[in-house]
Amino acid sequence: MLTLNLARLEREGTLEIEATIPADDPLWEGSGLNLAEPLGVHLRAHTAGSGEVVATGRVRGRLANECRRCLKPVETGIDQEVVLVFSDAGEMEPGGEIRPIPESVMELDLREGIREELLLDVDPFVECDPECKGLCPNCGVNRNDDTCSCTVDEPDPRWDALRALKSE
Ligand SMILES: [Zn+2]
Ligand SMILES: [Zn+2]
Repeated sequence: MLTLNLARLEREGTLEIEATIPADDPLWEGSGLNLAEPLGVHLRAHTAGSGEVVATGRVRGRLANECRRCLKPVETGIDQEVVLVFSDAGEMEPGGEIRPIPESVMELDLREGIREELLLDVDPFVECDPECKGLCPNCGVNRNDDTCSCTVDEPDPRWDALRALKSE
């Protein structure tokens, strides 16, 4: 489980967390992250300062993306350092670096924090190749594999119909 038992952390000083988040976990819903395999999480947590909980470590996995130019499936690796800091010290800026520890909670949930850290670092613009030529905007041919007879400046045929209407 990706929760920290705060009483146990208090008692033992540090806690190791080794877990995986399934690729189809509801946590990823609406995030735009499309995992190709479960995300491996390895964190070590300790307490610091006045009531702060710090969890540091790495997450590893693979993302299933599409090339933004030609839409070909592209898998990219995730191997990212994660630092999560929680504090129970009342006032906190929303969206700040330090996350609040909800009152009277015994198990601190780390999943949301991991999701947010991933979203900060994952590049949403993936290309199959820096030289990818993309799809022809006119006929949709993948210009990496094929050539089409469209000329670059050829207008969209849908406009022809409009133009014909207008000139009537
Ligand atoms: Zn491509
Ligand atoms: Zn074309």
